[in-house]
Amino acid sequence: MADCIFCKIIAGEIPSKQVYQDELVTAFHDINPVAPVHVLIVPNEHIPSVAEVEAQHEAILGHMFTVARQIAEQLGVAQSGFRLVVNTGRDGGQDVFHLHMHLLGGKRLGRLG
Ligand code: AMP
Ligand code: ZN
Repeated sequence: MADCIFCKIIAGEIPSKQVYQDELVTAFHDINPVAPVHVLIVPNEHIPSVAEVEAQHEAILGHMFTVARQIAEQLGVAQSGFRLVVNTGRDGGQDVFHLHMHLLGGKRLGRLG
């Protein structure tokens, strides 16, 4: 997607503090962290949001959880705990329409809602 900021980060056209990349997903630190650990895990394929997810994406989506667990261990929050968030659409608070999973940790997070 030509105008997508996360596609440009994946391609290395925009700098990011990358923590992980493989053939399916890329992970990098959020530019505006709301917790001591705040990493975004994104599919390399441009899927706009969960509202466009299809069965063909299941391998990628499952892999995002495995990578989240690995990054949580790498950044030292696997034992203390962490939160995975996928905002979807306007009411879900999604600002960037390239599907992404927030990995948040390093402090006691408040309740949702
Ligand atoms: P969401 O509101 O779920 O769409 O989250 C979008 C997230 O992307 C926000 O937490 C932003 O801080 C983050 N973000 C936007 N631009 C960048 C960027 N260039 N590098 C890293 N994170 C970004
Ligand atoms: Zn994209």
